[in-house]
Amino acid sequence: MPGSAEKPVAIVGGGIAGLALGRALQGAQMPFVILERSVAAADAGLAIVLPGNAIAALGTLGLREPIEQLGYPFGRREYRTAGDKLLCEIDEDGFWGPTRRPRTIKRSALLAMLAEGLPGGAVRRETELRVAEIGAECTTLRLANGESLDTSLLVGADGVNSTVRKQMFTAAAAVKPALLAQASWRFMAPNPGVDCWTLWAGAEGMVLLVPVSRDEVYGWAAMTRPQPDVSSNKSLTRLIQNFPTRVQQAVTYAISGQGRLHWSPLEQVTLDLWHQGRAVLIGDAAHALAPVWAQGAALSMEDAIILARSLGRHAGVAAALSAYEAERRPRVEHVQRMTDAMSKAGKLPPFVRNILLPMIGPKRYRQTYEPLKVSIA
Ligand SMILES: Cc1cc2nc3c(=O)[nH]c(=O)nc-3n(C[C@H](O)[C@H](O)[C@H](O)COP(=O)(O)OP(=O)(O)OC[C@H]3O[C@@H](n4cnc5c(N)ncnc54)[C@H](O)[C@@H]3O)c2cc1C
Repeated sequence: MPGSAEKPVAIVGGGIAGLALGRALQGAQMPFVILERSVAAADAGLAIVLPGNAIAALGTLGLREPIEQLGYPFGRREYRTAGDKLLCEIDEDGFWGPTRRPRTIKRSALLAMLAEGLPGGAVRRETELRVAEIGAECTTLRLANGESLDTSLLVGADGVNSTVRKQMFTAAAAVKPALLAQASWRFMAPNPGVDCWTLWAGAEGMVLLVPVSRDEVYGWAAMTRPQPDVSSNKSLTRLIQNFPTRVQQAVTYAISGQGRLHWSPLEQVTLDLWHQGRAVLIGDAAHALAPVWAQGAALSMEDAIILARSLGRHAGVAAALSAYEAERRPRVEHVQRMTDAMSKAGKLPPFVRNILLPMIGPKRYRQTYEPLKVSIA
């Protein structure tokens, strides 16, 4: 990549996408700096679900051993009614095979894994991008601390409300509420006896519990019917009244302790273009999705791998960015389509969903993940 020796790639955002890109650029021996506004990772102790293609991406980033040591394989997926009737189950281990077994992991452990071995000083914390002057040959960054920085390439890995995106496409209204639900809650709780990825869906909403260890579960809950007050815990308390005891135990634990329940809006980002001049977007900044298929981390890490590879293969930045976007779009758009399809199924009346899910559940799983089994390597 021309000019890279004098001006390192500036990555804004030290989340999953930004750290993964740092690792990939380090592997390609390209200089970079990661600018992260927070003091430390703000993950609130939560976990994340990593399907097989996320495990494969971690392997490509040189992290196969750590993820096999630290990630908890959950083996199977079950879809159940609010009354606990099993509608369908999927053998996830069998589908992905032994080297790409889906796993859960604490977000903090994933971020630490991605940051491990990066050169000293590569991640500049408490460093916030305010403004970017994006040019054809160089981009100048204006930081909150008053500093200016010239870069050969600005990468927006700064999440759903990306500042870089706003600087690139001032007119684009890219962020929209997700189709599945307006918002959701996340929490950790003592494991009430859940041994695999298990989703219970009722008329008003759904609750997912996934083991992170034998003793602890990661929980996610969403109201799929519009609510008058989307952030109120009252609707969650109401939702679980007719759910099985193990769901009630986990959710009640989360509601009853201060700081255990984490509410956030569910938003999606769709853009016609991910690059402009000497700037490009990766991860949620380019294509945030509702976590229906848990593809956020996987797609972010894949973006990072392909962007670093394109920069290494192409002599000019413009050609590299076009190649990156051309390679990534079909895979991302596939996940966007499957997310919309499953979100619509999630909103069906229970009696219809309960008839359809035994048939469409395994089919949708295969339709979604089969193309994602195809290696990006
Ligand atoms: C409820 C919920 C559940 C989810 N569950 C899963 C799951 O189970 N599995 C999965 O794979 N995905 C899941 N996701 C999605 C996943 O969390 C995201 O796709 C992933 O975190 C995206 O990573 P990122 O690095 O692109 O963005 P982020 O994680 O948002 O990181 C962006 C970083 O940029 C920094 N930043 C922002 N602005 C600036 C600035 N101006 N200057 C400097 N730094 C800045 C932020 O501080 C942050 O550290 C879930 C999402 C939600 C909302």
